[in-house]
Order: sequence, then structure tokens, then C-alpha cells
Amino acid sequence: MVFIQSPGQGDDKDFQYTGAVTSLVALKQAKYVREDYPDGKAFVFYQHMRTLGLTEYFYAGIQQDEGIFLTKGEVTGISKGEDGLIVEADNTLLGEKVQVKADLAVLATGMVPVTKDDPVVNLAYRQGPGFRDNAIFDEYADSNFICFPYETQRTGIYAAGAIRRSMTVEESIEDAAGAVLKAIQCTESVNRGVSVHPRSGDMTFPDFFFQRCTQCKRCTEECPFGAIDDDEKATPKSNPTRCRRCGTCLGCCPERIINFSDYSIDSIGSMVKAIGVPSEDDYDEPPLRILALVCENDAYPALDIVGLNRLSYSADVRIIAVRCLGSVNVIWIKDALAQGLDGVFLLGCKHGDDYQCHFVKGSELADVRMKKIGEALSSLALEEERVMQFQVTIDEYDKLPQIIDDFVASIEEMGPNPFKGF
Ligand code: SF4
Ligand code: SF4
Repeated sequence: MVFIQSPGQGDDKDFQYTGAVTSLVALKQAKYVREDYPDGKAFVFYQHMRTLGLTEYFYAGIQQDEGIFLTKGEVTGISKGEDGLIVEADNTLLGEKVQVKADLAVLATGMVPVTKDDPVVNLAYRQGPGFRDNAIFDEYADSNFICFPYETQRTGIYAAGAIRRSMTVEESIEDAAGAVLKAIQCTESVNRGVSVHPRSGDMTFPDFFFQRCTQCKRCTEECPFGAIDDDEKATPKSNPTRCRRCGTCLGCCPERIINFSDYSIDSIGSMVKAIGVPSEDDYDEPPLRILALVCENDAYPALDIVGLNRLSYSADVRIIAVRCLGSVNVIWIKDALAQGLDGVFLLGCKHGDDYQCHFVKGSELADVRMKKIGEALSSLALEEERVMQFQVTIDEYDKLPQIIDDFVASIEEMGPNPFKGF
């Protein structure tokens, strides 16, 4: 029997989901062939043999079996011979073309997670019946691979086993224990009436002032956790038990009618307004005043570490913590510039391929909004560069002083906000 792991040339790009499990399954089945047919032979052609951890011993054991032939190689063809199949391979470890007469050729099967439009879970969500596709992780189920493994984008539903990544049965059993512990945390939080992490302990919910809703559907589309459905007229229908209190809906609402009792357009807006703008009445050369809206998840703790390490950055910056950059409503930035602050920067988690945003897409959504605000600034004859967004991981705290000082220097070069004093 011939086991083909990935027929591609030199790599396994043609076989996207190849991995340690497919390697181990091929080795296991080769062993079965040997056990069931003492005179049987097994051939395994692979591009990469992945045997992680202690499974390397299993691989080493298989290598000792004279009836199992293992080689890296490209399978170039399979044809019907007189008596069975002829499998041809090239670029093998033997350095030459080989032909194998076989009764059976077994092509490895990749493990593909089903997270989207999944008929098994069949959830009644506006965004579809599945766990919601997580394009960043090739549709694997975790809402944040680094910080919240097991948690799907469906609050209260935890994933374990091969839906998270390809896993063996043994690994899946261990994984299930992790998912169960997360589910227990969730149940306990619900019993106490508080949210699950990262905002564990939060007892507030988004509150909609529906009289002014224009039914634009932004909140229903942008909520990362499908917590807002809509009716046939596109009026939002909130599902509080799904909500993780990220504030993305507050950030996106153009009418500014979504608020929490402890986090609102007015509460952050008042903090912005409370920042004193130095004037020429008090100083010969008034110092700059720059607003930083900093995500409380990683960026703000990173600034704390900057402090603990006694690193310094410009004293012209005033910092306000936000729940997520996705919760930043552009009105705060407009108000800041209108009152004479010289620049605004947002500091939050990385987005893109190796995203680390704790609320899935908050920092990415903020980036889109900032680009739009840049266009609005240009129409006011203000430089677009007065508003910037920076990404940081928590372990990159030592880069922060430079990032901040460079931004302050760029504002210095542009000069003070021309609206200062009006
Ligand atoms: S706070 Fe976040 S999770 Fe809750 S409804 Fe708003 S966007 Fe959705
Ligand atoms: S974003 Fe605001 S205005 Fe638009 S549908 Fe939601 S609540 Fe209504």
C-alpha cells in the first residue's frame, strides 16, 4: 500500500491542511498494514513528515520496520498496471525516480474545520447559523487564538478539538478539558450577572436611544459577536446575553445613540473636553497638547510597563483608556481637534494576518474609520497626519516611547492646531 501525504513539488502548498495529524495517521495505517499482513509492505511518500513531541518516538519505531518505506518525494503519477496500480515518484531521498506496484494508494485527508453556515449548530444569528467565519485563521473557531482559545465568536459557546486546529483524539480529549473550564467560568459569570473576559465583572449593557435610530444597520453588521439582530425594518434588536461589552456598536453608530451607563459618548467626550489646552495667555510658547486614545487590553498595560521600566515619553500627551479601538467614536476626535488639541493618536492591538485584537476586528474597524476622518480633516484644511493609529503588542512596550515621540515631533513640524483659541 502506498500512502501519499502531499503530491506537490517540494512543498505541500497544494494540500493546505496537511499537518502533524495527517503524518501520524499515515504512519499508524502503515503499521496496521504490517500487523494485518505480515508479508505486506507500506510506502509513505511525504513532503514534510511532522511528528511533534513524543510522537517522534513512534516515527522512529516505524523507521525500524523493514517493511515500511518512508521517503520525501513528489508523486508524479498513478496508473493502472497489469496487476494493481503503478505509483511513480520523483526527487525522493534516493535521488532517483521510483516506481511502486501497489494494491492500494491512499491519499491523506486534510482536516477542514466547519465554522460557517454550519448545519450542526444552526444558530439563529443574523450573521449566519455557524460560528461565524474567522477568515484570519482560515475559518477556525477561536475568537482570539492567543488570549481566548476555546471561545468562539458566539458568546457562551466553546470549541474543543479539531474545530480549533487539527488534533489527534488524545489531544482533543485534553483540549476539551480546557473548553469545559472556560464554560464553567462563563456559567459562573452569568450567574453573577457579569460579563465574561476580557471585561469580566462588567455589569453594563449597550443602551439604545431608538427614537433617533436611522436604521443604518452599522451596529448589526459591525458587532463582532452577533449580539445585535435586526427586524424587517432594520431596527436593531439587541441580544444582551451574547454581548461582550466591547463597545464596537458605540464606536460605529453615526447617530451616537448607543451608550453604556459607565462608558458613553458623553463620558469619554467629557474627559476629552476636560483636557486643558495651553494658550498664549499663559505661555510665550504654549506646549502642544496631544490626545491618546489607548485600548485597555494590551496597549494601556504596555504603557504601564513603560512606566514601571521608567522609560519616558513626551509630557504633551494626555491619555484616555478605551474599551477597544473599535469603541472609538469619531466624534471624540472631532471634538478634540475642534477644541484646539494639536493631534490625536489611537493605540491598539495589531490587526491583519497575526491579529491580536481582543474583540476580533475592533482595531481594524478603527483603522477604516480613521482613514475616513482623514478625508474630513483635509476638507477642514487640517493635515490628515494629525490623526494616526498605531499598533502594538504588549511585549513591544519598549517601542512605545519612540512611537509617541516621533508622532509628537511630526506634530511639532506641522505646527499648532490652527483652530486653537477659537
Ligand atoms: S458591546 Fe460589542 S458585543 Fe455588545 S452589542 Fe455592542 S458591539 Fe456587540
Ligand atoms: S448604528 Fe445607530 S443609527 Fe445605525 S442602526 Fe445601529 S443604533 Fe441605529
